[in-house]
Amino acid sequence: MEEIKITVTSPLLPDLEEFIPYLKDIWESKWITNNGKYHQELEKALCEYLKVPYISLFTNGTLPLMVALQTLRITGEVITTPFSFVATTHSLWWNGIKPVFVDIESETCNIDPNKIEAAITPKTTAIMPVHVYGKPCNTKQIQEIADKYGLKVIYDAAHAFGVEVNGESIINSGDMSTLSFHATKVYNTLEGGALVCKDEETKKRIDYLKNFGFAGETTVVAPGINGKMDEVRSAYGLLNLKQVDNAIEKRRQIAIKYRNGLRDVSGISIMEDMPGVRHNYSYFPIFIDAEIYGMTRDELYFKLKKNGIHCRRYFYPLISEFPTYRGLDSSRLENLPKANKIANTVVCLPMYADLEEQDVREIINIIVR
Ligand SMILES: *Cc1c(COP(=O)(O)O)cnc(C)c1O
Repeated sequence: MEEIKITVTSPLLPDLEEFIPYLKDIWESKWITNNGKYHQELEKALCEYLKVPYISLFTNGTLPLMVALQTLRITGEVITTPFSFVATTHSLWWNGIKPVFVDIESETCNIDPNKIEAAITPKTTAIMPVHVYGKPCNTKQIQEIADKYGLKVIYDAAHAFGVEVNGESIINSGDMSTLSFHATKVYNTLEGGALVCKDEETKKRIDYLKNFGFAGETTVVAPGINGKMDEVRSAYGLLNLKQVDNAIEKRRQIAIKYRNGLRDVSGISIMEDMPGVRHNYSYFPIFIDAEIYGMTRDELYFKLKKNGIHCRRYFYPLISEFPTYRGLDSSRLENLPKANKIANTVVCLPMYADLEEQDVREIINIIVR
């Protein structure tokens, strides 16, 4: 196996010396989980940073998806995208909900709002879009469809930490949004996640559900699960929040270098910034037209790998191609032509705050040839 010189991502870590006093404090208090002081502080700090009214912390980014569906009592069928990380669809499956896949738009790689209506049946209760690579979905059009048919909208915003459209946080869209604070994301709490909602009553229900349904010492109001975040990760999250803006700015600089180096390479397409959007530069996908570029996506992927540069083919294969889902009617190739094409032509280049300029140059040189 080739030596890995450059990984696709690298976690944003708080300063260890700064972290130690927090650990000492937690050790002394012996309050290590169950809505402790750092948990409460982080919820408050994230509400302010993300400009959202209510947020509930979770132990990862998959549980908030599952709990969002429970909170809104979603059943039957949910319209979603096959071009995402598997957790999006798995959360439906774990709730006994049938996923109905709709094709994506090539420009954003997000669910195509123009294809949603045709997928609605009497059993449809919700839409679960994903802001893929942190690029905002067409939330206005999706909301209009949801309102017309009385559907709920739950956004998987795992990639969209800090993304704003015209100064408004993207995670205020729809009924709820979920976030992931996994090590690979723009902002991490080692593992972690959150569920964003719009009113106090809903937040209360989410908080019951993530704590086994306990509403009091002896009162269980719902069949909840254990999704709680602990004090160590909450404190770590507070420290990382202080440096996330700086990290996003460094990612932006890297994106500019990649774009300048790759924009004019024939057979390679890149994504530019969208007007009015504050991006988070969570990923840097490029799309290869093999005929023009002279090399397939996989050939380029393995060539980079041979040079010690480990990229990822996010998202290949499509979720609809995995054994659990490929038998579904909506998984058929004819239903998802754009998603299939993108999945077969995309490769995400290394992207993280501390990626060295010379590494970026080396990656560009290999792609340009
Ligand atoms: C990372 C991710 C998740 C899952 O988050 P975890 O924190 O790893 O559980 C869900 N959806 C998408 C789109 C993701 O990228």
